[in-house]
Amino acid sequence: MAVDTVLTIAEIRSVVAKWRQAGEKVAFVPTMGALHDGHLSLVLQARAEGARVVVSIFVNPLQFGPSEDFARYPRTLKDDVEKLQTVGADVVFAPAAAEIYPVAFQTSVINKKMSEGLCGKFRPGHFEGVLTVVLKLLNIVAPDMALFGKKDYQQWRLIERMAKDLEIPIEILGCDTIREKDGLAMSSRNRYMSAEEREESALIYKGLSSAKAAWERGERSLDKLTALFKDSISQCPRMKIQYAEIVDRFSLEPAGATVAEKSLVMIIAVLFGDVRLIDNLEF
Ligand code: AMP
Repeated sequence: MAVDTVLTIAEIRSVVAKWRQAGEKVAFVPTMGALHDGHLSLVLQARAEGARVVVSIFVNPLQFGPSEDFARYPRTLKDDVEKLQTVGADVVFAPAAAEIYPVAFQTSVINKKMSEGLCGKFRPGHFEGVLTVVLKLLNIVAPDMALFGKKDYQQWRLIERMAKDLEIPIEILGCDTIREKDGLAMSSRNRYMSAEEREESALIYKGLSSAKAAWERGERSLDKLTALFKDSISQCPRMKIQYAEIVDRFSLEPAGATVAEKSLVMIIAVLFGDVRLIDNLEF
């Protein structure tokens, strides 16, 4: 049976209400479409939880800066729905921008701390846009659980924080990053790269992995660990590191100069011309 696509808030609420009345669990996977196996893994995990699965596809204008790729962000709804069918999603919610942001819309969600470092430093307003749309979508769908990829580590932690701070009665799950064969984290933006860039981009995961391997061998100098990542990226002069930091996994605060405890994550962003790639690895 084809996956239903619904466009309005009223329709998705009525679909979910029927499942609720039947005593079913509901899981929610918010996306911006241009789906790949990383997105599909979230749906599979939601299915494994025994839940009905709602997937939203909405390219959220609020989370793009004025010089970012909102206009050219890939929009592939028909293909997306076909892919979702193969993994057993139950319904797709694909609202128009005016459904989510009617003319009178004027409220937003601001995180005052964890949003400031890492990507937040380079994308002003981005996480405000993300948190605002995610809270709105959570209120619309009202699921039991919502699934997010650790690929967007800071985003996942910020959503977890928002759910705690604002008493949102929804379980927030973080799911492992799905990678290409050469280690590159799957992303809707990977298609922006040329074939040559795509090949060179494998250096990102190589660099993260060599830092992690050194950590596992007992290296505890964060500078040395970060330098291993930088060495890897420097093999491709066109690739520029925007940031590479080792931070506490939970607070995303910078870890001290040398550390012994094991709750860290290395988070990075690199620029390849105007393509921006993010990734991370937990140590
Ligand atoms: P996006 O469409 O980029 O907004 O992503 C929608 C959801 O899919 C977010 O929770 C992302 O973290 C997650 N996601 C994106 N890429 C991956 C990946 N390679 N592995 C796992 N989850 C991912």
